[in-house]
Amino acid sequence: MSEPVYFPLPISDEPAAYGTKLPEGQMSSYGYHSWWCRNNGSDETGISVEDHGPICNSSFIGASVRPATFDQGGGYLSVDLVSPYTHGVYKAEDMKVVHHYDRRLRLIWSPTGNPDGDELDLHITSSEARSLAAALLRAADMDEFGKSSR
Ligand SMILES: [Zn+2]
Repeated sequence: MSEPVYFPLPISDEPAAYGTKLPEGQMSSYGYHSWWCRNNGSDETGISVEDHGPICNSSFIGASVRPATFDQGGGYLSVDLVSPYTHGVYKAEDMKVVHHYDRRLRLIWSPTGNPDGDELDLHITSSEARSLAAALLRAADMDEFGKSSR
């Protein structure tokens, strides 16, 4: 599966030396992992994007659901964490996008169960995830306990 375009690639593989004045519209970034990243298997910093990839992502966190209709089979919903990983010199406009997508929960719905198949890739903030979780808990309570759970 190719990575979404909103995790940009650097225009130069190495960050600018401290104190270097970059041309207008460029920003330098030194690569630090998210603590949950499994891409490199270490806490090493400053790894090139070529060696690490443009995102940090966690291991599969979980969730298993059945498809909505009887004749669909094998679908799954997975949850993990993603965050842009940046190391090098970037276009400033790309870094705005990076900051927008910093630290998201990723929900992937695969109706066929095939990881390389037709997937819905949804990125949400922690706050949005808590709202969704609260709604799911409320719906589950209503289903199992009825009106008495208010
Ligand atoms: Zn990482």
